[in-house]
Amino acid sequence: MNYRIAVIPGDGIGPEVVEQTLRVLDAVGGKYGHSFEYVKALAGGCAIDEKGECLPQETIDICKGSDAVLLGAVGGWKWDTLPGDQRPERALLGLRKELGLFANLRPALLFDELADACPLKPEIVEGGLDIVVVRELTGGIYFGEKGTTDTDLGPAAYDVEQYAEGEVRRIAKVAFDMAMKRGKKLTSVDKANVLESSRLWRRVVAEVAEDYPEVEVNNFYIDNAAMQLVRNPKQFDVIVTSNIFGDILSDEASMITGSIGMLPSASLAEGNFGMYEPVHGSAPDIAGQNIANPMATILSAAMMLRYTFGLGEEADCIENAVRKVLADGCRTADIAREGEKVSGTRETGDLIVQAI
Ligand code: NAD
Repeated sequence: MNYRIAVIPGDGIGPEVVEQTLRVLDAVGGKYGHSFEYVKALAGGCAIDEKGECLPQETIDICKGSDAVLLGAVGGWKWDTLPGDQRPERALLGLRKELGLFANLRPALLFDELADACPLKPEIVEGGLDIVVVRELTGGIYFGEKGTTDTDLGPAAYDVEQYAEGEVRRIAKVAFDMAMKRGKKLTSVDKANVLESSRLWRRVVAEVAEDYPEVEVNNFYIDNAAMQLVRNPKQFDVIVTSNIFGDILSDEASMITGSIGMLPSASLAEGNFGMYEPVHGSAPDIAGQNIANPMATILSAAMMLRYTFGLGEEADCIENAVRKVLADGCRTADIAREGEKVSGTRETGDLIVQAI
């Protein structure tokens, strides 16, 4: 099969980690008889420099004309003094909106080889940790009505949390489908004891659950979920929640696994279209030094194969290759312990390609 991928390397370490990821994709394509066509596009600080805006229309068109998008990272010190609405990171919000990316998938997987990077006690994570947080990405308080007003206590500001049944239903379906492919356990997180929008959320999730009788569902309040994630994270399989709660919980869940250089993500639209990117940013402090960990981006490409292209075996092949090089002792600086040999970005890419 032929697949067309819009590639947005972005800024900082983005181009370095994306370069290794394309080599890995080519290796998998060669092994399984697929060809990946890459169409490069600009977004972020480099787009501001070259085109005067962080998300040129041409980039949106390239993404819309592709089967999936692979993104490195955007942003950097050079553009930090620009006003908020002109900063490189605005490109991410623009891409989510333009591409209709309403579901954000953030796996938190603790690799056995990196177990001591986990900040929790060993007995809490013994036997491994494998959670996916499914976060609603285009609704809720981040996109609701906002403004300022006057009150008896002085000027006030407000942001409205609002969810339509259809928005909850579509994200719930993504989460239930995910649970069906995994451990068949879904935890929906809300604040239904206080918020009207959460009560609607909970009711719609219960309705969708009727179509998935095999999935065990439970409901947690956000405060309890945040606590349980560090107390007993192994109880979770798939977690589904709103934009703001998911923002916080997905960071919490992923940090339990240790290094930011290992964490992939996917943002999905209706159908199978998706944008895939590492959780980390452009890391300007280490850019251009060949020391960034490319694994988060490489694992994001594995998610692309699995969720957008339906190539589960090929995705497993990449994930197993990453596991193998870790087991063989490959460590970039961010995950190396004192005294361990450190591999550079390119060398890590070489080893993963060889393992494939
Ligand atoms: P960051 O994730 O870029 O870096 C945080 C720390 O983690 C740094 O010390 C960095 O060196 C390290 N790190 C990150 N990725 C790494 C990797 N692959 N290998 C090894 N070490 C790695 O976060 P930040 O410093 O807060 O942000 C830097 C810039 O990136 C900012 O402009 C920010 O707005 C932007 N940003 C972009 C995205 C994105 O494009 N999705 C996400 C977050 C931050």
